[in-house]
Amino acid sequence: MTEHLLKPQAKPTPHPTAQYWRKCQVEELFNLPFLDLIFQAASVHRQNFDPQKVQISALLSIKTGGCPEDCAYCPQSAHHKGVGLAKETMMDIDEIVAKAKIAQSRGASRFCMGAAWRGPKPKDIETVSKIISAVKALGMETCGTFGLLEDGMAEDLKAAGLDYYNHNLDTAPDKYNDIIHTRQVADRMDTLGKVRDAGLKICCGGIVGMDESRADRAALIASLANLDPQPESVPINQLVKVKGTPLENAHDLDWTEFVRTVAVARITMPRTYVRLSAGRTQMPESVQAMCFLAGANSIFVGDKLLVTPNNKEENEDSVLLAKLGLTAEEY
Ligand code: SF4
Repeated sequence: MTEHLLKPQAKPTPHPTAQYWRKCQVEELFNLPFLDLIFQAASVHRQNFDPQKVQISALLSIKTGGCPEDCAYCPQSAHHKGVGLAKETMMDIDEIVAKAKIAQSRGASRFCMGAAWRGPKPKDIETVSKIISAVKALGMETCGTFGLLEDGMAEDLKAAGLDYYNHNLDTAPDKYNDIIHTRQVADRMDTLGKVRDAGLKICCGGIVGMDESRADRAALIASLANLDPQPESVPINQLVKVKGTPLENAHDLDWTEFVRTVAVARITMPRTYVRLSAGRTQMPESVQAMCFLAGANSIFVGDKLLVTPNNKEENEDSVLLAKLGLTAEEY
């Protein structure tokens, strides 16, 4: 066993993109024999992180449903009438802070808040700024996912105490308009630029299992890895098929393809936190363990991810982490 497998290095800081990843290079990684790919990813993970530590986040939908965007995977879109999800108003700030305290007591160091908007209006920024400040005062990292931002909004969120802004690239650039018709990849990139310029950290990932090809998955990972600097956090989501959405009958993704996606994300973004995100309820513990071996080092805790189920039992994650000898990373 080589020395780097035994001696994890100190907690890393984000770094500029070390190389430009061509899509074909990323596909070559995907095409490696499975165990070679996992070994390579695990080695990269150990060179850059303590492999026994997992960053724990919690995600809350603070304004649910009625979104004007038409993301095919999302039950919160107002376009998908068959879902039957009611449009709600903004949650009360005290209720949000109470949820953040519960998450913190369960080991979460970061509290992520989502609102189902195309983008916030100026008065929405005022509202979420108060919420962000209240959550930040608990001593947690804060993350927001509020959609497309206008000039100056990212700066306002930063001033309120926001640490991370989540804005996913969703899928491969060439497949984007198969999944979403109400915005373009360029809109996403524009907001990501504003977020970086404001000095916020970026959480940016995508979803697999949306009937995409391996080449599409490679293109998504290449897009993420070529962001410069690379995102500090990359959530890899497996589609949760919700009845009434256009993707309710998508084909199941083989578990090895999901693990491969995690592994390739780890290799191409060595110092990024790779989050095993949506879809964990459908994954046996053994597959989740394989994802950790392949370089995933962040999870969401709690019973819901926005509006779809997460691991159900309150202590399900702590049992899994204990079995694997993993512990929560402290903020
Ligand atoms: S993913 Fe976000 S932007 Fe898309 S429909 Fe759902 S809430 Fe709206």
